[in-house]
Amino acid sequence: MKLILLGPPGAGKGTQADILSKRLAIPTISTGNILRAAVKNGTPVGLKAKEYMDAGKLVPDEVIIGVISERLAEPDCQKGYILDGVPRTIPQAEALEKAGIVFDAVVSIEITDQEIVDRMAGRRVCTACGTPFHVKNMPPKTEGVCDNCGGKLEARADDKPEVVRDRLAVYHKETAPLKDYYGERKLLKMVDNQPTVAATTTAILEALGL
Ligand code: AMP
Repeated sequence: MKLILLGPPGAGKGTQADILSKRLAIPTISTGNILRAAVKNGTPVGLKAKEYMDAGKLVPDEVIIGVISERLAEPDCQKGYILDGVPRTIPQAEALEKAGIVFDAVVSIEITDQEIVDRMAGRRVCTACGTPFHVKNMPPKTEGVCDNCGGKLEARADDKPEVVRDRLAVYHKETAPLKDYYGERKLLKMVDNQPTVAATTTAILEALGL
């Protein structure tokens, strides 16, 4: 199963990807997580990406295409994967297509900008493994500590309201056109965000016929 999760920042792509990943026994590939690790480790990719990420802008396509090609070539991707946060532009989607990758489905999580802005203020992410939490909707067992690996939870610098608004503008301009792109290829499944994480998972599985 090769799956793409589309949706604005904060739609719950990372959360749903983690759940689906366990259920389908395939890895989640999140370019956001890969880039945050690169920034933390001060790698050449991290140095290039940092200023874009801090500003809520997209990292240039050539950097992303390099990162994702390298990651998808690893052995754990042979049986399939879930892409979270990539592709984010038409050129990225075209690069995946040119690489001969055939996707089974593209799920777009539909949610309003206002819900996103309200939600982002409570988001916390593990600084060690990237697992997302939410202070109200999905609290960790111990405040500030990752359930998964015991790492420290922090708010993301790019979740500040003013940066969130810029990221939403970028989503509408650069990423939302991918819905038409994959709609034309008969791969698009639109799923409305539901009141709970579990209900959204159920809606996604239904849309996928699983
Ligand atoms: P995310 O965790 O997916 O919200 O990504 C955080 C930030 O990383 C984004 O705001 C971008 O600056 C950068 N980023 C992640 N994935 C991509 C991508 N596919 N294309 C361009 N920039 C990306």
